[in-house]
Amino acid sequence: MKALVIENLQKTYGNHFVALKGITLEVKQGDFFALLGPNGAGKSTTIGIISSLITKSAGKVSVFGMDLDQEPEEAKRIIGLVPQEFNCNGFEKIFNILITQAGYYGIEPRIARTRAEQRLKQLGLWDKRNECARNLSGGMKRRLMIARALVHNPRLLILDEPTAGVDIELRRSMWQFLQETNAKGTTIILTTHYLEEAERLCRNIAIIDRGAIIEHNSMKTLLTKLNRETFILYLKEPL
Ligand code: ADP
Ligand code: MG
Repeated sequence: MKALVIENLQKTYGNHFVALKGITLEVKQGDFFALLGPNGAGKSTTIGIISSLITKSAGKVSVFGMDLDQEPEEAKRIIGLVPQEFNCNGFEKIFNILITQAGYYGIEPRIARTRAEQRLKQLGLWDKRNECARNLSGGMKRRLMIARALVHNPRLLILDEPTAGVDIELRRSMWQFLQETNAKGTTIILTTHYLEEAERLCRNIAIIDRGAIIEHNSMKTLLTKLNRETFILYLKEPL
């Protein structure tokens, strides 16, 4: 079974601006997949549609065989999203942020507390559990969003530029955490404009540019097909 199937997905913002020109892609169950592309390519739009935050203009999306139009609630339950921008309630304590999130999924309070503790410990945030989110550093805010995205044990974890603006040490520890999470069976999709990140983590990759998929392949094949310079040229933003 495929973790994600997108067919001819289109998005027009307002009346005219075509952000997605009909993209088609597939992500296998258990994969670690990168959606790579320069700023403005349409990565966040794609992810927003998969996570039901943005309405599509046309096309089909299904997650683990569930069509988003037909089974939206079921599909939402198996997706965990780490958005590009910090969107937690800054005035809420971080332990409560996870409990609130678990509540959205109807998780029983006792189990929610156990899960929240487990996730905060995994992400190195347990000591901060009684801090308000707004007092956290940038890196901690990012880790908080990862903990929150995992509180309902999603089958598919989607991260939108998780390491943008994050220092190298935290970037490395996030890479390791994501690799471990993937090894335990969670399918992961991340967007990035860092080639090095995709190269290190991902088995399969799609490159998106101006709302169109221009490559969709295994990382290995793509690296042999394109040389590094061409690759980086696509991204317009070398590391
Ligand atoms: P990426 O995440 O790859 O940087 P986005 O999906 O955020 O790209 O944006 C793709 C294009 O759609 C960009 O040109 C962006 O300016 C435009 N866009 C994104 N969101 C909106 C919106 N709410 N209204 C109008 N245009 C938007
Ligand atoms: Mg984006």
